[in-house]
Amino acid sequence: MSIRINPEKCIGCSKCVNVCPGSLIELSERKAYMRYPKDCWGCVSCVKECPKGAIDFFLGADIGGNGSTMHVVSEGDLLQWKIHKYDGTQKVIEINRKNANRY
Ligand code: SF4
Ligand code: SF4
Repeated sequence: MSIRINPEKCIGCSKCVNVCPGSLIELSERKAYMRYPKDCWGCVSCVKECPKGAIDFFLGADIGGNGSTMHVVSEGDLLQWKIHKYDGTQKVIEINRKNANRY
């Protein structure tokens, strides 16, 4: 599975349900859950859409993740990718949407 949804943070807004290209996420009692975890291909669309940072994306061994997770907190145009590393340390990468994809 590429993602994990934290029910404590989820507010049941359905954004992840609507954005998942594989229709893999569903709501039950106003909480999102992964219905087909094996089919997730890790596009991170749901991670970016979640307004509560409730979806963690697992960083695989192929990119040195080794059990690290990442979620997004957004404020306006600013996206903060918060990485919780396997060794207990944290890292934050800030991206301004206005500057994204500029070459
Ligand atoms: S990472 Fe992509 S494919 Fe996987 S559940 Fe989220 S939106 Fe769907
Ligand atoms: S986008 Fe986030 S808060 Fe909204 S339903 Fe999905 S997990 Fe819950």
